[in-house]
Amino acid sequence: MDEGNGQAHRISRIGAMLRMRCPRCLRGKLFRGLLDMWERCPVCGLRFERETGYFTGAMYTSFLIALPLVFAIFGVMWLFSSRTLLAAEVLLLVTTVLFVPLVPLVFRYSRVLWMYFDWRFGPDRGAGTDPPPDGSGGAPL
Ligand SMILES: [Zn+2]
Repeated sequence: MDEGNGQAHRISRIGAMLRMRCPRCLRGKLFRGLLDMWERCPVCGLRFERETGYFTGAMYTSFLIALPLVFAIFGVMWLFSSRTLLAAEVLLLVTTVLFVPLVPLVFRYSRVLWMYFDWRFGPDRGAGTDPPPDGSGGAPL
């Protein structure tokens, strides 16, 4: 793969992440509702939840997304506050109230980030195919 195609591929992967698309085909939508995911990619058939508890890893990516957001919200308000202990207490409350509407977005992007991270370091190339009828198939653990 030449460098130009690699760069274009990287940009299209970032675009697909932002649009919450499948990490394999970059086209199928991951979510069918606010918090509800498709079981498989509507375009390429990739099973999104590779195994039970697969999205537990998304907890870590949700921290990565949520913490900077919370600190940014608090920090900006802190700059314009009286910078007293009382102000800090009020700002913590206001930060919580402002953060709550962002929770679905954090939830969705934490899963997206986790899936792309997982796909980058351990792609399950056979995840889109069903196991053979004899049940012996599937990716080795
Ligand atoms: Zn797909």
